[in-house]
Formats: sequence, structure tokens, C-alpha cells
Amino acid sequence: MGVSDAYSQLLEAAIQHLQTLKASGVRFVPASPEALALLQSRPGPPAAAVAQTRPAPARAASRPFTSLSIPPQPQAPPSSAQRSAPPVGQTLAAPRSEAKAAAFADLRARALACKKCAPLAAARKNVVFGVGSIDAQLMFVGEAPGADEDAQGEPFVGKAGQLLTKIIQTMGLSRESVFIANILKCRPDTPGQSAGNRKPTPEEMQTCIPYLHEQIDLIQPRVIVALGATAVEGLLGKTIGITRLRGHWQTFRGTPLMPTYHPAYLLRNQALSEKRRVWEDMLQVMEKVGLAITEKQRNYFLSDR
Ligand code: URA
Repeated sequence: MGVSDAYSQLLEAAIQHLQTLKASGVRFVPASPEALALLQSRPGPPAAAVAQTRPAPARAASRPFTSLSIPPQPQAPPSSAQRSAPPVGQTLAAPRSEAKAAAFADLRARALACKKCAPLAAARKNVVFGVGSIDAQLMFVGEAPGADEDAQGEPFVGKAGQLLTKIIQTMGLSRESVFIANILKCRPDTPGQSAGNRKPTPEEMQTCIPYLHEQIDLIQPRVIVALGATAVEGLLGKTIGITRLRGHWQTFRGTPLMPTYHPAYLLRNQALSEKRRVWEDMLQVMEKVGLAITEKQRNYFLSDR
């Protein structure tokens, strides 16, 4: 048997195995850098079928920063071998742009149809999946949709959201270039109340968080900003006060995570010193993702110190 026949048989077996896993609900398969390197150096279909590998810290240094989202990479038309074989790399490593968009669309469809928290599903107007670029290098994570977000189906569109948008713009970015999501995709129900929000319960967070994890796994941001204590609790399982945590880098599955105050807190506490604290956190984030910082940006909200 020639090398290429043996390779084809191995490939076929691997494909069958991966398809079985996929059919049973497995979405990602861990692969060591060595295995990926071997796959890339093998004979047969081009290495392009194996997409970029995941772990983040090295990636941050190796990706030159121009804007906060990476445009889809141009792809060569598939060879006949590629057309006939399922995309192995899609399952073994981070999906490439087309597969990534498809995986994201699939995830969105599953989240939109979710009824795992029956009372929330019954009370909601919309599932608030998230908004922005699926190639974003910066991701903001809040707590849960409020009434405005529930009505519009988009996170952070109410008063706190408008402030978040301003913060993003002050960083020199747009909502479209980052990704914004919440720990919960549905508004926590408030039976018997005509207004106001409530904090998600630990059970609701546990039930919903896999959607956010999948979003993060697909987007692979360079940096995550956790807005407020609930976002920190949902992502890191830490219940230490946000006052102590904010401004100090954490790590979520290898991705740097900056905890900061929720914009709703800044609406309640208008002190310039609090705005400056959040701004200092954002300056750290800008540095970490490699954004240029102007002198003017460095000095925002300094005047009452
Ligand atoms: N607060 C949040 O935490 N998320 C939103 O989407 C809106 C307000």
C-alpha cells in the first residue's frame, strides 16, 4: 500500500470518527500543537484545511494589530480532494472564516430556540444573542438583557448600553468592530413587577453560560472585558467584590480578561474618579490589544484627581 493510500485510509477513519463525535453533539476536539503540525506537514490535501490553532497568549503577540476585527481571509477554491472530504481542520482546530460563520449561525439558531429556563423563555420578547464582529479581538460581556434589550433583541441598547457605546467609541472603536454579549441571553423575569431588573440566579447562569463559552471559543478574542460583578462571577466563578478585582488582569481559558465596573454603576455614581477608574481599565485593555493611545486619550477624566 502506498503512502498516499495509507494516508487516505487514515483520513477516512479520522473523518468517520469525527463525524460520529459530531453526531453525538461534540463540537470541538482538542488537538495538540504537535498533532496539528503533523497534519499540516502530511501528504495529500493542502494544509489550508487545518485552520489556525487555538491557545491564546502566544496568538496575541503574533497577530499584528490593525483594527479590532480580522477580515475574512481570502480562500483558494477547494481542490477536488478538499471538496470530497469533510473539513477535518474545522473539527480539529479553530474554524476558518466560512466554517466559523456557519458555526456561529448554528449557535445563534440554537440559542434563539432555547427554552431551558422555562419562565424566562415564556416571559421574553427576544433572545439577546449578542452583537458585533465574529472576528472581534475585543469582547465585552455584561450581565443580562434589561427591558430595552429584551424589546430590541440587542445587548446594551438602554441607558447603560449607550454609555458602553460611548466608552467603546472613546477607545477609537465601534460596536460593530467588537463583540458584545451577556452571561444570560434572556432577560431575567420579574413576575409581579412592572419595572426593574433582577440579577440572574446561579442556576440560570449555569444553564446559559455554555452559549457564551461557545461564542468565546468561536470568536477567540484577544481580550475579554467583564462588565461588573455578575459577568466576573459567570465567567470566572469569582465572587470577590468587583471593587477589588477591577483593574487587575484575570485569565479566562488562556484569554486575558479585564474586570471593570458595569456602566450602570457609572450611571448611578457620576463621580469623575469612578469614570477615570473604568477608563484606566480600558487603557490597559487598549494596550493589551495593541491599540495606539493618544495623549488626549491617556488624560481623559483626570481633572479632579
Ligand atoms: N446590562 C447588561 O448587563 N446587559 C445588557 O445587555 C444591558 C444592560
